[in-house]
Order: sequence, then C-alpha cells, then structure tokens
Amino acid sequence: MTASVRPLIAGNWKMNGRRADGVALATELARRARSHDLACDLLVCPPATLLAAVAVAIADSPVVLGAQDCHTVAAGAHTGDISASMLADVGCRYVIVGHSERRTNHGEGDELVGRKAAAAHAAAMVAVVCLGETEAQRNDGATLSVVEKQFRGSLPASATADNTVIAYEPVWAIGSGRVPTNAEIAAVHAHLRTLARDARGGDSLRLLYGGSVKAANAAEILSIANVNGALVGGASLNAEEFWAIARSCP
Ligand code: PEP
Repeated sequence: MTASVRPLIAGNWKMNGRRADGVALATELARRARSHDLACDLLVCPPATLLAAVAVAIADSPVVLGAQDCHTVAAGAHTGDISASMLADVGCRYVIVGHSERRTNHGEGDELVGRKAAAAHAAAMVAVVCLGETEAQRNDGATLSVVEKQFRGSLPASATADNTVIAYEPVWAIGSGRVPTNAEIAAVHAHLRTLARDARGGDSLRLLYGGSVKAANAAEILSIANVNGALVGGASLNAEEFWAIARSCP
C-alpha cells in the first residue's frame, strides 16, 4: 500500500439484484459505514436499474455510488445507452469503464474505453479504468506489455489522480477463485506505478487489484506495495464479506 493514498474498496455488483436485494445490501453497508471509521473509501456499483434506489439507501453515509459503464457522449440517439452526465444526475460519482466483461462481450477496445473515461471526466466523475491480461497472454509472458498497452491506450488526456482509478484485473482471476501470487501482483502494480509516474497520475493514482478478492485474502493483497484498494465482484454481493474486505485495509 502506498502510504499517502487513501485506499478504495469498490463493489461491482454486475448484472445482479432485484430492487429489494440491492436496497437491503446498500442499507446494511451504509448502516455500518455510518458508525465505523473506515481506513478506505467505500464504493458500490449496482446495475443501472438500482442506481436511484441505492442512492437513497446510502444517502448521508460514507458509501459512494458508481455505475458499471457509460456512453461516450452526453445525450442523443443512442437507444439503450446511458451517459455519464445522466449517471452523475442520479448520484454517481464513479463509473467503471473497460471491464473485461465489456471488452469481451461488447468488443470494447482501448480507444473506446478512453473516450468513455473522458466522458466520465467531462461529467465530473471518477473513471475506474479496468485492464488486465488473459491467461494465454500471461502464459506467453506478455502480461506487462499487455497492461502497458491498455494503460497507454485507455487513459484519455484528461486523466489525473483525482478523476481516475486503475483496476488491474487479470481476466483469468475474475470469478474463478484463482489469484496471482503476491509477487505477480506486485510486479504488475510496480509497472503501473512507473507508467503513472511517466504518463499521468504519479504516486497518487490509485491502483486497485481485482479478481477473486474475498475476506480471506484481502488483507494479504491489500498489503502489497502499490496496491491501493480492490475492485470486488462476487464478494461485494454479501454485506458481511464486503465489509470484512473494507475493514482489511491497512
Ligand atoms: C470483477 O468482475 O470486477 C471481479 C473482480 O470479480 P470477482 O471479484 O468475482 O472475481
């Protein structure tokens, strides 16, 4: 953990939850966050259908709201899409862009991800830019070159440490129960830190790790140098588990 950077624990709920589930989960997290001093910022990213209800549930609590994707432009003829300014209007302060499930399932590449991040910045939101290698790329020894290409290609000129967070998520670790070794995570995060110093963000840019983080491994992962928090999928759907991860921040 880089000492001067306040960690971020972010929950990506993906395409899960009816209104009652989402409100119950958010209400419980908000209740806990109101009465404990966490050593991290706590973010939940529900599906778009739940944003308004969750915004109400976490009002007047330290829990902040984010979305899972945004369009590149602010308004217009884009059926089914949601713009960053619409997300900001409903209370979002963060938006995830370039998650591997969007890169894979929707063919999103670095250039599009960068334009989505720029749209988030234009709406005064923080973009959580996801990147990470596939298992085949790791086996080919290409991990650092892949994440470097994604970092350079997905960060718009508007990116700063205040409006951007990087989430390193090895594709093979997402939802699989498999996690890189501490040394492997440290090597990627050290490389990302060097890139941040060279390109944008510097030492203050938050570098999250994501991929099968749970309460049982969070403290160890969060203690790795240059890991400034976690992006959590499955384990963020359980209040007890997600709270334990947040409490693991050093
Ligand atoms: C994710 O999809 O961002 C993620 C990290 O998922 P999980 O924690 O379930 O591996």
